[in-house]
Amino acid sequence: MKAGRNFITTKKGDLGYGLFINAAGAYSDTVAHSFGAGMTYRLIPFKGIYKTLKRPAADLIRSSIYPVPNIRNPFLGIHFTRSVHGEVYLGPTAIPAFGRENYGILKGMDPEAFVILWRDALMFLNNRKFRGVALEEPKKYLFASFFRDARKLVKDLRPEDVEDSPKAGIRPQLVNMETHELVMDFLVERVGRSVHVLNSISPAFTSSMSFAAMVADQYVPK
Ligand SMILES: Cc1cc2nc3c(=O)[nH]c(=O)nc-3n(C[C@H](O)[C@H](O)[C@H](O)COP(=O)(O)OP(=O)(O)OC[C@H]3O[C@@H](n4cnc5c(N)ncnc54)[C@H](O)[C@@H]3O)c2cc1C
Repeated sequence: MKAGRNFITTKKGDLGYGLFINAAGAYSDTVAHSFGAGMTYRLIPFKGIYKTLKRPAADLIRSSIYPVPNIRNPFLGIHFTRSVHGEVYLGPTAIPAFGRENYGILKGMDPEAFVILWRDALMFLNNRKFRGVALEEPKKYLFASFFRDARKLVKDLRPEDVEDSPKAGIRPQLVNMETHELVMDFLVERVGRSVHVLNSISPAFTSSMSFAAMVADQYVPK
């Protein structure tokens, strides 16, 4: 994508705009860079997998259950999410992913994997918090460790209640490449007639209505 003053050039042709709003999620950094916005930031994707609860154990969980946040860890940790259909998911784990859409082991890996790997290595060397996460989080891939965290929240849980699920998610985490810090909040930048929503990590979905109202109020020219 290439950005001009009032048009963009995409693979599908040119598009004119009066005001450009970038809310491209996992691709928001690359879109922003086309406009000269968010230049010190890059996304590093983290993959998380979930497990699910068998019945009747699933019926024990009547709502979502979250742990008290550990302020040293930007990830929430294993929690229980009850869906509208009554399925209960446990997770996620969090390990660096090798692509913005690397949902499988290899599926979704692309040439950007090498760049991402390089950013991961830089972060591992330069940021103590990232190093802690990178060493701590993979332990949750061991069932015993995953289960221990889950049982802290639901004491009656038994290992046989838990089974694998195909649900996987990728958290596109923004990193400040100058300070080597993980960005811990939403970030919005305006350049000319373009507004860029960067780092729309959780709870961007839950707060989407008030977040959108705030963006419209503070960043959209009247
Ligand atoms: C497993 C998981 C669990 C989560 N749980 C919660 C939760 O419980 N509560 C919560 O609040 N949040 C949760 N989140 C976070 C939430 O999903 C995100 O904060 C939210 O989806 C961000 O919304 P968005 O519209 O900014 O980005 P997205 O939902 O990612 O939407 C971006 C859109 O832009 C499109 N796009 C991308 N690139 C381009 C391009 N170049 N051109 C055109 N279109 C493009 C994409 O196709 C997509 O439709 C969770 C995330 C994950 C991964």
